[in-house]
Amino acid sequence: MSATMQALVVLEPGRLEIREVPVPVPGPNEVLARVRAVSICGTDAHLIRGDYPGFWPPSFPFIPGHEWAGEIAELGPGAERFGWTVGDRVAGTSHDACGVCQKCVEGRYNLCENYGRPGLHKQYGHSVQGADATYVVQGVKTIFPLAEGLTFDEGAVIDPASIALHVANRGNVAPGDTVVITGAGAIGLLAGDAARIRGAARVILVERNPGRLAKATEMGFETVDSSLGDPVGTVRALTGGLGADVVLECAGVPVTVQWALAMLRRGGRCAAVGIPTEGVEIAMQRLVLDELELVGSRASAGEMRRVMPLVEQGRMRVRDVMTHRFALADYERAIATFGDPGSGAIKIIVAP
Ligand SMILES: [Zn+2]
Ligand SMILES: [Zn+2]
Repeated sequence: MSATMQALVVLEPGRLEIREVPVPVPGPNEVLARVRAVSICGTDAHLIRGDYPGFWPPSFPFIPGHEWAGEIAELGPGAERFGWTVGDRVAGTSHDACGVCQKCVEGRYNLCENYGRPGLHKQYGHSVQGADATYVVQGVKTIFPLAEGLTFDEGAVIDPASIALHVANRGNVAPGDTVVITGAGAIGLLAGDAARIRGAARVILVERNPGRLAKATEMGFETVDSSLGDPVGTVRALTGGLGADVVLECAGVPVTVQWALAMLRRGGRCAAVGIPTEGVEIAMQRLVLDELELVGSRASAGEMRRVMPLVEQGRMRVRDVMTHRFALADYERAIATFGDPGSGAIKIIVAP
């Protein structure tokens, strides 16, 4: 193996370069993996634009990428004790938590109380270097055996599939529920599948982009075109005036959060996974008087292994959301395509 590799380096907000950098060395309970596919996430686009200054990433230059699949190339000390072998096919996720704080002990490692503390917690592609490179080093807590029937490209979408399952879990979707999803991007569409897996009777996607609306229809969901008048009124009309049992907020803009709450049936629950970059005014009177619930949903916590067979069985349809594929060397074109609302891009796979 050579000592250097190709990596996408963000030199400063908005300035990208494919560079030759040293191959990282796996430490205790870590592996070095040959990245075969990495998918572009909305967070990558924000992070590259510099939308989270000083936080994601803590500093530039930086290598993003956190939704990936590949094969183990080298084991760090101790990784073999967890059953890993060179050549194993794996899917990666981003949260490498401390495992010791109260939230970790309760299984909510996505809320690790040692977040970002050097030596205790890492979030690959966010707080530490990521997988937009030929190789990546990750801890054994963040890699999962890739099911035999899945390709590396599909493996790169297991992390977002786990996030979609997590938001449906946080929404407590129950059998027979009417579920509305705001935003028909990759997470929204996969959350539609997750809602069905949990037994939703109806899944209605609210979206304004024509390509995404067509995709949602093609995947068998009901749709509401939010560019045509009042989506809250439309959802109420579709539900006999009652509203939705659960709304999964996957768009992350202030107005969709407001719609999400306004669309709820009395006693309904909204789980939000979209992250608005500004504050949102909430109608507290309705929230109190109708006992609405609003909960956050961050990444996933234990859903990587649970979602894998659902993806393999075709119940979580990652293939349907994969629209483009680029070589790592063409990353600039890939991210431009991702950001172009007319491109039809949903999930873009990049191959290092
Ligand atoms: Zn992501
Ligand atoms: Zn922790």
